[in-house]
Amino acid sequence: MRIDLHTHSTASDGTESPSDVLAAANRSGLDVVALTDHDTTSGWDEAARAAVHHGVALVRGTEVSARSNGVSVHLLSYLQDPAHPALVAELERTRTSRLGRARRMVELLAEDFPITWEDVLAQSTPETVVGRPHIADALVAIGAVESRDAAFADLLTSDSRYYVTHHAPDAAAAVRAIRAAGGVPVFAHPGADGRGRVVPDEVFDELADAGLAGLEVEHRDHSPEQKVRLRGIAERLGLLVTGSSDYHGAGKQNRIGENLTDAAVLRAIEEQGHVEVVRP
Ligand code: AMP
Ligand code: FE
Ligand code: FE
Ligand code: ZN
Repeated sequence: MRIDLHTHSTASDGTESPSDVLAAANRSGLDVVALTDHDTTSGWDEAARAAVHHGVALVRGTEVSARSNGVSVHLLSYLQDPAHPALVAELERTRTSRLGRARRMVELLAEDFPITWEDVLAQSTPETVVGRPHIADALVAIGAVESRDAAFADLLTSDSRYYVTHHAPDAAAAVRAIRAAGGVPVFAHPGADGRGRVVPDEVFDELADAGLAGLEVEHRDHSPEQKVRLRGIAERLGLLVTGSSDYHGAGKQNRIGENLTDAAVLRAIEEQGHVEVVRP
């Protein structure tokens, strides 16, 4: 069984539609793929139809933006009730804040580059959760940078003078909100120290107490040392271990299916989740 539990579509900062992500999953020989767009479930319905069409099982999920003592934390929520009011409200709050934040970043960038908010809108749809990648695409479109990667290497880093933060719930509160919605919370790329600070060990204890189900260990942003550290933490706290690609279409180098999750781990996630895995 080839299982990849973390991908993005045009519902957030991937470059392919949900259907095209399912088509890519099929082409790369995956049996199961999770669609986990940032702070939204808007891609779920299209992905579910495409799962049947392309013969790939679909785990519906969301990558929830959160924060722990100022450190950015991404929580994969699998199989939650997409209508649960508290989680829906929290995601809505984050999306609204993301919009204001993106507009503010564009205002700051416009002091030095010929970029407008319309340039960013041209890189997204009304359904899209806007993030720095869409600003990056607008910067590419106006010729200010070569690629998303180049934009993230310089103008869009979190210590850039153009950077603005957005609302995100506290990580432990987010874990509880995901569980309350019947979701299965897995900490995404918890050791990705190449792009900013990562949480110290005691945060894993706090999140495990709050109901965290697992750690995404096999991820390209993890060094061998981080993988060893995270496996140790997972073992100590009795957490599931997952592996995934964090595929963003052409928006990132990550290839779909480049890291995989064991079938037994998926079964445990499915047993704990509120909605079914969509099976073709
Ligand atoms: P934001 O959530 O708006 O702060 O933007 C962060 C998002 O940008 C993450 O979800 C990543 O998927 C994406 N990202 C980070 N670094 C890069 C990069 N070098 N190239 C493309 N996308 C990136
Ligand atoms: Fe992303
Ligand atoms: Fe992430
Ligand atoms: Zn992701």
